[in-house]
Amino acid sequence: MERIPVAGPSITQREIDYVTEAVTSCWYGNANHFHDRFERAFADYIGTKYAVALPSCTSAIHLSLAALGVGPGDEVIVPDVTWIASAAPVEYVGASPVFADIDPDTWCLSPESLARNITERTRSVIIVDLYGNMPRMDELLAIARQHDLTVIEDAAEAFGSEYRGRKAGLFGDAAVFSFHGSKTMTTGEGGMFVTDRKDLYDRALILRDHGRVPGDVSFFNREVAFKYKMSSFQAAIGLAQVERAEELVARKREIFGWYSARLADLPNITLNPEPAHVRNSYWMSTIVLDPALGLTKERLVRELAARQIDSRPFFYPLSHIPAYRDRSEAKQAQAQNAVAYRVSPYGVNLPCGLSLTEAQVDRVCAEVRSILDSVAASPQKAA
Ligand SMILES: *Cc1c(COP(=O)(O)O)cnc(C)c1O
Repeated sequence: MERIPVAGPSITQREIDYVTEAVTSCWYGNANHFHDRFERAFADYIGTKYAVALPSCTSAIHLSLAALGVGPGDEVIVPDVTWIASAAPVEYVGASPVFADIDPDTWCLSPESLARNITERTRSVIIVDLYGNMPRMDELLAIARQHDLTVIEDAAEAFGSEYRGRKAGLFGDAAVFSFHGSKTMTTGEGGMFVTDRKDLYDRALILRDHGRVPGDVSFFNREVAFKYKMSSFQAAIGLAQVERAEELVARKREIFGWYSARLADLPNITLNPEPAHVRNSYWMSTIVLDPALGLTKERLVRELAARQIDSRPFFYPLSHIPAYRDRSEAKQAQAQNAVAYRVSPYGVNLPCGLSLTEAQVDRVCAEVRSILDSVAASPQKAA
């Protein structure tokens, strides 16, 4: 039986043609040909003024924090449930992450918890559009404005999602995207920083090039900074992918629709939310099990793996993983973030690579149903 992967890209002749052109002719004076086209096309698709192509989304978050001037002594609020890349760059600039709870209806940062975690040291908030869904953005932004916090929107998982008709990536001082191989659009590895703020854009361009002002060839660097640039081969793949943006997002939504048609009737699971005013791009088709089933995410992932189906556990709360769990700020989060600790143990991302077929979804859903049935028949086996 063929193993079903959890994620993977859609690559067509367009990507192959562009990357061939890049490797053949984008050198010397032509080296930035695909960067320029990719950044312009990406900014136009999202609707931002500026876009800067980077080696990863992690570097884009680091660059955003640095460009915003976040540093030692500052606190940055991050949702407790996200990939560690949302939080790790806070420490790259010498600041401290604070883990706030998620909202049960969006799986994203809770406005109430954001407000509760603000202190005199809070400088910034990183809002994550988890698994392609959008948070209660109006409320989050109002709280940030009221407390004079800068906002970074981590839209790594939400390429093509919308909130009140506006695309993910339009809701912070800066926003960031990931083009990792598992993401909805990919460049193999890669990321993007977007902003409407000219001052942040100018600052990012200097910081990402070893403190050099764009166009300067005199090697007279103004400050010590970073080297964050993607290759023209990645930019070429990125241009092809962003030209296919709506096709990629439509495919993600179709895959989720296949799951929804087969699983939505099950009383003891919840599928990805899509709140009113949101278009969810469903980066990961996900189920959250009713805790009463007694079936944890680890067990379901194992059971599916034994049936040649790859899946992933829902992100653990950051305050629960070894990287953070023994710190005082993590201990506080463990005690306070009830929703994070209630949802995360029971969530599983199902296969949703862009080449997944409806027949494969049939197979995944039949196996999920049979595992749930066997757990219901003998609950004592569930632990
Ligand atoms: C994938 C991801 C990132 C990091 O992306 P990289 O390109 O691998 O650095 C950051 N935040 C979230 C929410 C992600 O899912």
